[in-house]
Amino acid sequence: MFNRRYIFPLVIALVLLTLPGCAKRHHDRDLRGARANFEPTLKEVAMAYTETCVGGDRESNNCAHFLSDAFIRAGYTELLDSELITERCTCGAGRVVRAQEMLKWFQSKSKRFHSGRLEAGTGYWATYQEKPGRRHVTILDANTGRFYGTADCKNWPVQWNYQW
Ligand SMILES: [Zn+2]
Repeated sequence: MFNRRYIFPLVIALVLLTLPGCAKRHHDRDLRGARANFEPTLKEVAMAYTETCVGGDRESNNCAHFLSDAFIRAGYTELLDSELITERCTCGAGRVVRAQEMLKWFQSKSKRFHSGRLEAGTGYWATYQEKPGRRHVTILDANTGRFYGTADCKNWPVQWNYQW
């Protein structure tokens, strides 16, 4: 039987036991994006695609701008200070604006490469497309044929696809 005078210390002890657990979970969530080896899936990046920049601006060509926004939203904060990126959007959100620089970053991440159109059922890919004078990046889902980006330039001669 608990004596009434033990109840208050018991409640305090329970509160103290509970607090660090909550704090730790919160802390871990904050660290997820900052951890160097945190690798969201390309599907998670596709789900984070909003066809906007978090800063609200638009560029003359938004393919890399909006796609890098999705990568960073999904957790690839390394894109914010990658040495491969030399040009960024003007709103201060630090999104990538050149498709060719996204290509270099895809290549730095790549574990699987496929040139040409994708075979059905091979999942999500980070894709670079090019024709003379034009460059484009998007995410393709070879399972559904859907794309996550401003376009899927399927008839352009260069189709380079990366997975990791
Ligand atoms: Zn922006």
